Amino acid sequence: MGIINLAPKILDPIPGGKYVVNAIDYVVNWARANSIWPLTYGTSCCAIEMMSSSMARYDIARFGSEVFRSSPRQADLFILAGTITRRMAPAIQMLWEQIPGPKYVIAMGACTISGGPFIYDNYSVVRGAQNLIPVDVFVPGCPPRPEALFHGLLTLREKILKETCRNPWHEGEPKDVSTMDRY
Ligand code: SF4
Repeated sequence: MGIINLAPKILDPIPGGKYVVNAIDYVVNWARANSIWPLTYGTSCCAIEMMSSSMARYDIARFGSEVFRSSPRQADLFILAGTITRRMAPAIQMLWEQIPGPKYVIAMGACTISGGPFIYDNYSVVRGAQNLIPVDVFVPGCPPRPEALFHGLLTLREKILKETCRNPWHEGEPKDVSTMDRY
């Protein structure tokens, strides 16, 4: 049964009805998807929920993501948790650029997704992380609970498992902060 379930992942159909063995993609993706190391980063209240996700009650280690790294050079995942101010925007872009690819971004919480409660008449808050860097998964809530972050992590895992040498990870471009809407 296990072998039958694995077959579609290790056999890749090619035109003419033949199959090529595609096990390297599967093994590499399996290893990457189960050891996503997040950057230690947070700007406000949502980050408290992110921190609690690594405590014993929720135990993010079940998903292989307990190794929060202090250096972007050692991380795969940028969890943006909390309000993003315009002052902080260039630093976020710099951190994203310093993470080696393949790298992924989870936007956690209403503030990170859209500006949240600060969306109206506020000159200082960025209206969504996607205006700064490419975002892979959005986790809504104010704040999202650790279970919601885990759902985002599992969604990201599914995305990684779909990457192949024919459909590789693609690095998007950070946006130009100077042209961002202020109001
Ligand atoms: Fe705080 Fe809510 Fe914004 Fe999260 S979404 S940073 S909990 S105000």
